[in-house]
Amino acid sequence: MKITAIAIWQKDLPLREPYWLSGGRLKFETLDSTILRIECSDGTIGWGEGCPWGHTYLPAFGGGIRAAMELLAPLLIGQDPRDIDRLNRQMDIQLPGHPYAKAPLDIALWDIAAKQARAPLYKLLGGAEGDAVDVNSSISTGTPQQMVALIEAARARGYRTHSAKVGGSDTALDISRIDAIEAALKPDEKITYDVNRAWLPAVAIEVMNSVSANGWFEQPCQTLDQCAHVAANTRQLIMLDECLHSFQDHLDAWKRGACQGVKVKPNRLGGLTRARQVRDFGISVGWQMHVEELGGTVLSDTAAIHLALSTPEENRLASWLCHPHLIDDYALGQGARNDNGRITLLDKAGIGVEPPEDWLGKPWKIFTP
Ligand code: MG
Repeated sequence: MKITAIAIWQKDLPLREPYWLSGGRLKFETLDSTILRIECSDGTIGWGEGCPWGHTYLPAFGGGIRAAMELLAPLLIGQDPRDIDRLNRQMDIQLPGHPYAKAPLDIALWDIAAKQARAPLYKLLGGAEGDAVDVNSSISTGTPQQMVALIEAARARGYRTHSAKVGGSDTALDISRIDAIEAALKPDEKITYDVNRAWLPAVAIEVMNSVSANGWFEQPCQTLDQCAHVAANTRQLIMLDECLHSFQDHLDAWKRGACQGVKVKPNRLGGLTRARQVRDFGISVGWQMHVEELGGTVLSDTAAIHLALSTPEENRLASWLCHPHLIDDYALGQGARNDNGRITLLDKAGIGVEPPEDWLGKPWKIFTP
């Protein structure tokens, strides 16, 4: 069995509403997604997607994925798609770093492996733990009143876990956002205040030690060192996200006691192979984890939810879905969907999402032998 072709599409994904992060410092209106299809000699097809959250969120951007494909796709043509670890090592030799650019290829290899096994992908990632994954909302930065209104709207759609984006230059405003949200939460709701690295360590310590929040604070500062310093000076729980790219980063975070939980995002880490390694390390050290994707259509959301569903429930926090934020939905009824706050997966082989050709349009490029 050999890889015979890799077809790649570029798709602009407009958001339903502009989205603000980091206290309004970062604005997002359209995502740049790369969707690819790996074709095999026995007719099996695997789908993968790479969609950074814009180009200001991480050292990653849509054009970077496609530039890297010029080096990575020809490397995979003619190889056995079942050799997933070996192919990842070869990609690392061909192009060190750039994990986000490798992710869509790795995800498509997993789709192929699960289709070959005639099993839903979560079976290959460890097997389902429970029957559904909780959905995590995403509350854009705004005034305290606007943010409370967004939480109420999310609650009406079944969300019981929220991720509220805070972290501006106005410390007092951040404190009032957090206080207003705390007062508005129901007893059965959970919250993370996602700072998206906006605070300096002194600001983080001041805010986190002056609010009576009872949730998580995510990526309070830019670097792992800064977050470790904050962790040593607060009783609040810390979740890390943007400063973690490699397995070594996670090892360092654990050794330094910088967090009690992490976000596990296949597109940040290099695909499902690397994300599973991090997930399993997180289980071994007792972290709690949100397993979800950076962004993209229901294809990338669903691939990540297979990994979430196969994560033990005591280690698993709610998963965010990107596709409800998009105007386009090409695969109604397919993949991971919010069903009143819970996500279940259909008993379909592979990832379970097949992007239709009429939506994809003309490929950006097709690689063949
Ligand atoms: Mg985050």
